[in-house]
Amino acid sequence: MARPAAHALPRFVVAIELDAGHARCTTVCLPTRGPLPLPADRARGLGVVDVREVLELPDDLASPAAAKVLADAVAVLGGRARGSVGRVGLAAASGIAGMPVRRLAARLALRTRLPVVPMARGTALAWAEHRAHGGGDDSVLAIEVGASLSAGAVLHGVPFAALTGIDLAHMPVGPLGPPCACGRRGCLEVYAGHAGLERLAEDRDVPPVEVPIHDLHDAGRARDLALRAAAGEARAQAVIEEATRSLVHVADAVGRLLGVDRIAVRMQSAAAWAEVLRQAGRRRGAGPRFDASPPLAEAFALGAAAFAQEVTRPRR
Ligand SMILES: [Zn+2]
Repeated sequence: MARPAAHALPRFVVAIELDAGHARCTTVCLPTRGPLPLPADRARGLGVVDVREVLELPDDLASPAAAKVLADAVAVLGGRARGSVGRVGLAAASGIAGMPVRRLAARLALRTRLPVVPMARGTALAWAEHRAHGGGDDSVLAIEVGASLSAGAVLHGVPFAALTGIDLAHMPVGPLGPPCACGRRGCLEVYAGHAGLERLAEDRDVPPVEVPIHDLHDAGRARDLALRAAAGEARAQAVIEEATRSLVHVADAVGRLLGVDRIAVRMQSAAAWAEVLRQAGRRRGAGPRFDASPPLAEAFALGAAAFAQEVTRPRR
């Protein structure tokens, strides 16, 4: 994995997070060496400098129309950064990482005349964790628990399976388990993502609570279940314990297989569940260090930008 000399690294990178039907574009200003800036560094002019509204994208990501939407966004963001954007990082959710995203990257590079680096969303997360930890020889498996799961790894400073990613979200946990959106059964995601938690709650007749609409895709229901479990509600406890078991089991197995030093589980605002996960992680005994906590602020934008800044496009 060749790295350009530090003086050749662009400081301004546009990070694009792609999900089905939409993209979120961010201009990121990065240091060309040293640890990845954390939010506290913003006052010194490092870190995220501008966030643009979420953009609607056509369904066909490989289409010229999709590339045009993103190229226009890059032009606007580049203008705000006084034209000094030197690269684009394109981080795709696990369900859509792959060939359409590589085609989109190629089209976008033609339109913007900038290097465009595609990657899986999990890789952006893992790179953010790696760089925030100081970079170097660090090995980390990073998992985001949200509405779905994203996972990626950095091994001794080298991104693992950068584009297609290890699709931890679709690791089979129970081959006879509930159907998954991917068409198979019993994937980790159906147990341990937020949708999985809701399904487990339904199976166990835990009545749903009212959650503000803006919180549905965040962590409202997961947080509610975790709080009820912490308060001693038996059925909520059973749900949280089952999801925790699945998640820790798969994370531990993959973490050991890859030989990482640490496993970073990042969850949106479900602090009560994070505590249950930390305890379960500690009970495993030997193995990679296990850490569950809220995500770094702007982890995907920072990770995607830093990855695009530092890592040349993987050969395929
Ligand atoms: Zn699946």
